[in-house]
Amino acid sequence: MSDDPRVLIAGGGPVGLLCAWLLGRQGIPVRLFDNNDGLQADPRAATTHPATLDLLAEAGLSDDMARVGLVAPIFQFWDRPSNRLVAQFDHALLANDTKHPFVVQCEQFKTSGLLLTRLQRLANVEIWFSHEVVDVRQMSERVSIDVRGTDGIVTHSGRYLIGADGGRSVVRKRCNIGFDGFTWPERFIVLTTPFDFQAERGYCYRSYFAEPGAWCNCFKVSGDGPPGLWRTVYPTEPSQDDASLTSDVGAQARIQRFFPDARSYEIVHRNLYITHQRVASTFRKGRVLLAGDAAHVNNPIGGMGLNGGIQDAVNLSGKLIELMLTAGPDKLLDLYDLQRRTVAIEFVQEQSIANKKRLEESDPAVRHKNLDELSRIAADPARARQFLLRTAMIASQRRAEAMTLD
Ligand SMILES: Cc1cc2nc3c(=O)[nH]c(=O)nc-3n(C[C@H](O)[C@H](O)[C@H](O)COP(=O)(O)OP(=O)(O)OC[C@H]3O[C@@H](n4cnc5c(N)ncnc54)[C@H](O)[C@@H]3O)c2cc1C
Repeated sequence: MSDDPRVLIAGGGPVGLLCAWLLGRQGIPVRLFDNNDGLQADPRAATTHPATLDLLAEAGLSDDMARVGLVAPIFQFWDRPSNRLVAQFDHALLANDTKHPFVVQCEQFKTSGLLLTRLQRLANVEIWFSHEVVDVRQMSERVSIDVRGTDGIVTHSGRYLIGADGGRSVVRKRCNIGFDGFTWPERFIVLTTPFDFQAERGYCYRSYFAEPGAWCNCFKVSGDGPPGLWRTVYPTEPSQDDASLTSDVGAQARIQRFFPDARSYEIVHRNLYITHQRVASTFRKGRVLLAGDAAHVNNPIGGMGLNGGIQDAVNLSGKLIELMLTAGPDKLLDLYDLQRRTVAIEFVQEQSIANKKRLEESDPAVRHKNLDELSRIAADPARARQFLLRTAMIASQRRAEAMTLD
């Protein structure tokens, strides 16, 4: 056993910070490196599902997220060409399945901020901003990493390394772990506006719009406080260049085509994303563990990427705590790989791809059948509950927890 009991973490996004907090509050020494000079105002994830809120309830994190975010008990599917409400789902149907029968819309930088505040109270956790992990080496008793900071490259070692360094993970690459899957040809654009879609058009805080060959996610976040902001996400044409996509004219035309209005929309943010569907070939290689986007990436329809990453962090940290504090067996880390990698493939990849295909279906007969089926599911409480168990990521959590190595 290494005499250095420290856990090293590459990446100070929400997943790395959560691992640091969960390990640190049990007294385990942690050193986390992030290449940014502090938390970034990263607007990507907001939707936090019931299964994830249940995991974060301890020490009041879910309550804090609800306080700085928005509580959204229902979500809707709309047929965009006819502006018809196809289906509405209410998480109240999950009252016996979760302590949080609702979604919390909390921008990911707020979640990271809540974690950082908690981490600052832990003397055994060090957060090294402006430090980039550039290489990884494994020995039988420890793992060491080269980290580039203001004083050049310095080597740090620990008992385990968590690679939570995002989709382009250096940890994953330096450990030669594959990242199979594909990249969508279109990019996704997010246009954020203070236009009140609920008051003006009757849309709820999470609304999905189907259109032949296209789609839109429209959801509300609290932003800097009331009245909040609405984020609308669309696919782009692969041939369109960045300048035309993000220009005032391009952005206005896109939002107007989906939601025509005589007034001009105020657009306060516009962000373009390349989107992939990929899962690492293993989440464990020796003393190196992958979590969050370093381990799996998917399109954001259904809001599952960070939720999956948080579920990785809770699962992995629990196993590391058992291993390090009560001399639990090393194979716990193989179980982490089995549980989390299986649900990343079977649930998150499958569901997020299916969500996208359902919204953008262009064959009129298939489209009609899909939307009708959604209406029928929403109208039948037993079927709606089953549907919600998947979308709320409770089914995947249950599946992971039931898996054993034997
Ligand atoms: C438009 C959009 C909307 C989304 N909405 C949702 C949603 O509603 N719900 C949801 O669950 N998910 C959503 N997601 C996905 C979500 O944003 C990601 O899954 C989430 O950011 C993953 O968190 P992470 O901590 O694993 O990685 P990241 O947030 O990418 O953090 C990684 C950190 O590591 C740092 N880093 C990278 N390389 C190094 C290195 N070599 N050394 C040190 N530090 C390094 C990075 O700077 C960064 O700070 C959305 C994504 C997009 C694009």
